[in-house]
Amino acid sequence: MTDARDPEVAEGGANEPLVIRSLEFIGGMASLGGWRPDPDLPEIAFAGRSNVGKSSLLNRLIHRKKFARVSNTPGRTREVNFFKVNEQFVLVDLPGYGYARISKEKRAEWKPLIESYLRKSPRLRGIVQLLDARHDPTNDDRQMLDFLGDLGVPTIVVLTKVDKLRAAERKRRLIEVPTSLGLDDDQVIPFSAVTGEGRRELAEAIESLLEQPSWRAEEADAADPAVGDGSDDSAADAGPNPEAPDER
Ligand code: GDP
Repeated sequence: MTDARDPEVAEGGANEPLVIRSLEFIGGMASLGGWRPDPDLPEIAFAGRSNVGKSSLLNRLIHRKKFARVSNTPGRTREVNFFKVNEQFVLVDLPGYGYARISKEKRAEWKPLIESYLRKSPRLRGIVQLLDARHDPTNDDRQMLDFLGDLGVPTIVVLTKVDKLRAAERKRRLIEVPTSLGLDDDQVIPFSAVTGEGRRELAEAIESLLEQPSWRAEEADAADPAVGDGSDDSAADAGPNPEAPDER
């Protein structure tokens, strides 16, 4: 039961949405087709270009420094990192893309890994896409958003670092950025890891994604017979077997 009497209760208060009771790093997916955890819990993924403020946002959201320590370990920054939260869902930290100081080829590497994760995650419930409120979306941001749109995955757009904007500029950017992306201004969440602004709204949006039935359910049911690739358990019309218990 949640106590919703006082919506203004401070962070960490009794009725704060998405209270994190436990956080466990469960591993990283380093390459296409590489290891990933069994999709036995719903997943929420976080995406954005390097330096957009993703680690800071996640630290604010989950009140855990441990999170950033894992995700910023050398070698892990290019992986898809998975964290189990409250035995309730899996938080998926996608690699930051578009880092200016790495070569073009390396910069392009994010695409197949991120795309493959997004296509092949039957329990993905939604994406939190981060954009820096101060800058216009980059080509990489636009490609990512186009891809998410094609996929049809529910997407929460967060504008980061809003504390860096003065009032007038902030007002302008909170209209300009969504407009340039064809979004309504109430479809984006202004966020600051410094002041905590937007934490509650983001947490509530994530909770509501977790409560909704998966946007992918029908697709997964329809496509399931193909999932058991190669194994000859020709239980012809036994229907889909989402649990696929064979471990190889
Ligand atoms: P990541 O590469 O996307 O994980 O970005 P980080 O979270 O490491 O942030 C990149 C830089 O932006 C760091 O210097 C942060 O301190 C800073 N930063 C991140 N979020 C905010 C914010 O909300 N406000 C301000 N002022 N700085 C921020």
